[in-house]
Amino acid sequence: MLLQFDERMLKSLRQRRDEQLAEVHAGRLPAVEDLLVADEVIWVRSGFGNASFLGLDGRAIFWNYGDGYGPEVLTDLQGVACVVAWAAEGGLSELLEVLPKMPSNAKTCRQCNGSRWMRKKKRTVQDQSGGPQVCHLCHGLGWTVTEQSVGHGAADDADSTG
Ligand SMILES: [Zn+2]
Repeated sequence: MLLQFDERMLKSLRQRRDEQLAEVHAGRLPAVEDLLVADEVIWVRSGFGNASFLGLDGRAIFWNYGDGYGPEVLTDLQGVACVVAWAAEGGLSELLEVLPKMPSNAKTCRQCNGSRWMRKKKRTVQDQSGGPQVCHLCHGLGWTVTEQSVGHGAADDADSTG
């Protein structure tokens, strides 16, 4: 799937890309510089030999360079949503608007209550690392589709959570 960035988002993405290319020239992004230079993308996040990118043309890209694979374009909504949410964490929060709105057969995510982010279980003054985490259940969408509701017949719509 391709994301539909509007002009305002593209402006932010181009600005971010320029900043990252400057980082590349300063030698600060050695693991991901090949793709950053070769393709019109921004680097979103790296870890454990993997890196995620967003293309200015709307691609979400996952690259397992640690195991010697080439970059691959993500096709599943959850994977794409996760990369967008990470980019939002990195300051490009306007990108969240490109994610699809909750369809009629979906429910607000019970894990994050639709906020897209995990609540912190413990709050400590020292905890400055990372900031919010993308919700593990909805992958940043804010909603989930239950498997049963996709099937035929009358779905059990009882929603009486105690
Ligand atoms: Zn969630």
